[in-house]
Amino acid sequence: MNVIITGAGIGGLSLALMLHARGIECDIYESAPELKPLGVGINLLPHAANEMDQIGMLDTLAKNAVSTSALHYYNCHGQNIWQEPRGLDAGYPVPQLSIHRGKLQMLLAEAVIQRLGAHRMHTGMTLKSVDQDADGVTAQFVRPDGTLHSARANVLIGADGIHSAVRRQFYPANDGFQFSGRILWRAVTYTQPFLDGRTMFMAGHPDEKFVAYPILDDNTPEGLTAINWIAELTVPDYNLGNTDWNRRVDKSVFEGPFQSWKWDWIDIPALINGAEAIFEFPLVDKNPLPRWSFQNTTLMGDAAHPLYPIGSNGSAQAILDARCLADHLQKTVQGKHRSIAAALKEYEADRIPPTTGIILRNRLNGPEQVMQMAHERAPEGFNHIHDVVSAEELEEVSTRYKRIAGFDPKALKRA
Ligand SMILES: Cc1cc2nc3c(=O)[nH]c(=O)nc-3n(C[C@H](O)[C@H](O)[C@H](O)COP(=O)(O)OP(=O)(O)OC[C@H]3O[C@@H](n4cnc5c(N)ncnc54)[C@H](O)[C@@H]3O)c2cc1C
Repeated sequence: MNVIITGAGIGGLSLALMLHARGIECDIYESAPELKPLGVGINLLPHAANEMDQIGMLDTLAKNAVSTSALHYYNCHGQNIWQEPRGLDAGYPVPQLSIHRGKLQMLLAEAVIQRLGAHRMHTGMTLKSVDQDADGVTAQFVRPDGTLHSARANVLIGADGIHSAVRRQFYPANDGFQFSGRILWRAVTYTQPFLDGRTMFMAGHPDEKFVAYPILDDNTPEGLTAINWIAELTVPDYNLGNTDWNRRVDKSVFEGPFQSWKWDWIDIPALINGAEAIFEFPLVDKNPLPRWSFQNTTLMGDAAHPLYPIGSNGSAQAILDARCLADHLQKTVQGKHRSIAAALKEYEADRIPPTTGIILRNRLNGPEQVMQMAHERAPEGFNHIHDVVSAEELEEVSTRYKRIAGFDPKALKRA
């Protein structure tokens, strides 16, 4: 069996390493002429970290990441709503890793080149079309100079992200982005650590929110920490023309509502002021699809199920897709599925229900519902959080989301 993977993002690269570990040949075709460490921070939840462990990547990633110890939620007055230990501190067998997305992608790409060989990584190849016949798949790619390249394999996996060309081929109409009415601004600021130096926090409510966590960053000046942060505001009249991860804007676009968010352990306006580059991204997703697999071609990661980046699940779900897909393709090689098409159907039967659940739950703010409840019931603040939201309600939101997203500690221990 040989496999074409389109897209050398987090999902595509993970899949290549997992297929290689199972003795299945694959080639990766990436549209960027050269892989560059783009993006800012990402959180790898324990179920994704567990998959990285299975392919021998966890130690390398852990050396380049902060092992997150806790997640705290506050209202917009800086009052604590809920906090929970995370990763190893929560008793998981593996850590939760806060890592630079570009670093994660480059480390996975280096492992692909080392294990599969540089000849398996084809950059500057933008997928244009997929044709299928009884024997397999032919993919057409366009190079930066406009020339075409054709490749053939038994299977093609669309891991080509939120603007997936593979998805567009199967869903040419009525598959636009669904805009939440909210915009995110992401950046890294080099400054002093806060709390224990390994905690992630979120403050505010769905209309005005701020998230921050430390990551490791190669450019961090001596003695400082790299803090990855995300400011988020409701901007209902935003013109949704742009869903580019690398769009830079000035802080004046959004800083106003956060000016008073200074508490004894964190100064949010100072964090915003200290950023070198701020990237704007609208909070969008797409409606869940009824099917991902068409004969010998399927979708994975953001191509299959773009999610609101709530609950730190985008990269984790792409990695879980990769694991499920690699297992089903291996079963085909072992004669346990009657055909590749049947294997791809099994894969989507396993993965569409949980990822659909996450898309829908994230539209209800996922685990951040605790902030919404506190704000709706006590917009001016509270004496004690349990006067407005009970301990049971808080616990229930947290546990339910972990179960839906697949990182309930009991399930992970069993896995
Ligand atoms: C430049 C960039 C920056 C990002 N920054 C962040 C961030 O800071 N924080 C965060 O939480 N998430 C970020 N993301 C999204 C995050 O990586 C994904 O949500 C998640 O990891 C799922 O991974 P994926 O492999 O499905 O998609 P992605 O990681 O988006 O990878 C998709 C890959 O496919 C390639 N591609 C696209 N179209 C084609 C085509 N037609 N032919 C061939 N290749 C193609 C893209 O160049 C990309 O390398 C970023 C994505 C990108 C592309």
